[in-house]
Amino acid sequence: LSLDATFEQSEDNLRSPICCIMGHVDAGKTKLLDCIRGTNVQGGEAGGITQQIGATYLPAEKIRERTKPDATLKVPGLLVIDTPGHESFANLRSRGSGLCDIAILVVDIKCGLEQQTIESLNLLKMQNTKFIIALNKVDRLFGWKKCPNAPIKKALKQQSEDVLNEFNIRLTQIITQFKEQGLNRELYYTSKKMGETFSIVPTSAISGEGIPDLLLLLVQWTQKTMVEKLTYSNEVQCTVLEVKVVEGHGTTIDVIFVNGVLHEGDQIVGPIVTTIRALLTPHPMEELRVKGTYLRHNEVTASMVIKITAKGLQHAIAGTSLYVVRPDHDLEDVKEAAMADMKAVMRRIDRSGEGVYVQASTLGSLEALLHFLMSPDVNIPIGGIGIGPVHKKDVMKAGVMLEKKREYATILAFDVVVSQEAAELAKAVNVKIFSADVIFHLKRKFEAYIDELKEEKKTEAAAHAVFPCVLKILPKCIFHRKNPILLKVDVLEGIVKVGTPICIPQKDFIDIGEIASIENNDKPVQIAKKGQEVTIKIVGTNDEEKQKMYGRHFELDHELVSHISRESMDVLRANDWDELSREERTLVEKLEYIFKMNGAS
Ligand code: GDP
Repeated sequence: LSLDATFEQSEDNLRSPICCIMGHVDAGKTKLLDCIRGTNVQGGEAGGITQQIGATYLPAEKIRERTKPDATLKVPGLLVIDTPGHESFANLRSRGSGLCDIAILVVDIKCGLEQQTIESLNLLKMQNTKFIIALNKVDRLFGWKKCPNAPIKKALKQQSEDVLNEFNIRLTQIITQFKEQGLNRELYYTSKKMGETFSIVPTSAISGEGIPDLLLLLVQWTQKTMVEKLTYSNEVQCTVLEVKVVEGHGTTIDVIFVNGVLHEGDQIVGPIVTTIRALLTPHPMEELRVKGTYLRHNEVTASMVIKITAKGLQHAIAGTSLYVVRPDHDLEDVKEAAMADMKAVMRRIDRSGEGVYVQASTLGSLEALLHFLMSPDVNIPIGGIGIGPVHKKDVMKAGVMLEKKREYATILAFDVVVSQEAAELAKAVNVKIFSADVIFHLKRKFEAYIDELKEEKKTEAAAHAVFPCVLKILPKCIFHRKNPILLKVDVLEGIVKVGTPICIPQKDFIDIGEIASIENNDKPVQIAKKGQEVTIKIVGTNDEEKQKMYGRHFELDHELVSHISRESMDVLRANDWDELSREERTLVEKLEYIFKMNGAS
């Protein structure tokens, strides 16, 4: 697609930067969002978790109200993504790269860098997204004097020496932790030079200290250093956030509209080709998900989160880019560009086709999940993928693995609903479905299942494993000659276990039955080892064996050995080999050789 350069690249022609919030759980991401928006979602929602996708638009004048009346703001406003955290960030991608212009990484000043802080850092690095560090919860420093909504320098001036001491100690520790991650970060106001190094802003999401600094730095940093990225372009850049049915509108899509201009009547291309019926936006300073009327527009200019109504949107896929066909564009070229996103994800699938079936809510979350599953330390092979709710057809696709590798007849469902029909079918055909809305939990569930299968196999195998033994019958200790044969033996070599088939290694092997019980000094035992004298009871497992009799088919000077078949050898090698001593292994090989020479099965 050609980029029409009708818009001049200049600081006077900028779109609003898009900002998202990352950090460890409980660092204060939601509270900080509330504070920025001036709402109280954290208090109102169950567990403080925000589930829906949305964004808040802060127009420049609102930012000025919160900061300085004379602040130089060149961008029209700031678009803040409402869903904090990894998964939403991973989904906020556009044409293969990160969609956020800037991020806020929230760090609890009392906890420092935590596991998810590091994970966030890695994601930010991966998508090459610049970030500001909100060193949050300063009001929790012991003795902190609240200065609601004050700039941080002003607030710090009000604090006692003790508070300042604690602040400095914790700050230094956290700066060191960032250094350990290879990042050189300092308090933002220690230098006039704006940039990555000077990006720590102490904040309180409760009493608002440092929030003016955070807002101002977000805007001023982006408008100064990202001019190219933020300059308006004619090329529409737009990603589908959510596909949903709205009463009166049919299936609509919420899109994050990063750049360009959209009009009613524009032809758009995603997985479908359609025409925009209506462009709807939320009111400024409100969220898209707050119920109410929408503003309808003939034309909208980025950046915005907008709702689009059109025919055929039920085929849209969250996480994919939308393209607009202009008069000078070739529809086929545009369609191809639209498919590129999907194809990039498809390419990740194991070519052998052997692997689990992975289903996620959006293309972005699917991509994040695949990325995780295929990383070297997880390494779960993927046989198929899908987006959206799990239906019967997905279970059928996963079921193909039942014949090949049972453990892969599995659906890992990430953040999607499983239809009841699908669940029933899965149960009936024995396809496992694991659902979770945290990627890591899916991995844990799947691994636990694999372990369970392994255990099952081992138990099954144990029944077939035959340990090697050579037994010498002791004279005057034949208590019963025929089924059950009861006699006392000296374990010459190897291990005797209950369940071991016993034979007489003559020219033709004479199978005499299985060991039903072992007694050592009148006590029943499961196992006896070389050098022990034990009484064994041998029971015939078929009519022929039941006929075998001491004195007729075998004598005192015959050795009794375990009958090791080819199959039981394989089982032994696969499961218990490590448990055998070197001597025992040699014995297995010796017996195996004898059996082979005698043509036994
Ligand atoms: P999230 O998991 O990162 O979204 O964290 P929340 O925003 O839900 O905050 C976790 C807890 O920390 C809540 O009880 C908040 O009220 C509290 N909290 C968040 N920010 C601050 C802050 O700046 N100061 C204090 N004292 N508490 C905070």
